[in-house]
Amino acid sequence: MKRNRLHVVQAAVAFCLLGAAGCDSGAPVQAFANPDPTRCIVSGEKLPAKPSIVEVQGKKYALCCPECEPSLRKDPEHYQKNPGSGSMSKK
Ligand SMILES: [Zn+2]
Repeated sequence: MKRNRLHVVQAAVAFCLLGAAGCDSGAPVQAFANPDPTRCIVSGEKLPAKPSIVEVQGKKYALCCPECEPSLRKDPEHYQKNPGSGSMSKK
């Protein structure tokens, strides 16, 4: 009996890995590529309740404000390695 049940769980996991729809229903949507999901990858500021969401090279980033977008677009790899290094006051 126990063995059977384990089998079912494994099957479900495999199903999820295949990207079946509905697997992550109910899970919080945290699909951002930010190294720290609570902070703007460019400025390092804490993200507001409604962050600016930008897609760069197929990845979604959450930004504290639209002003950070051009910086991220310019050099997304830099900010992935050095999140928070693009202070807004540095204009
Ligand atoms: Zn910002």
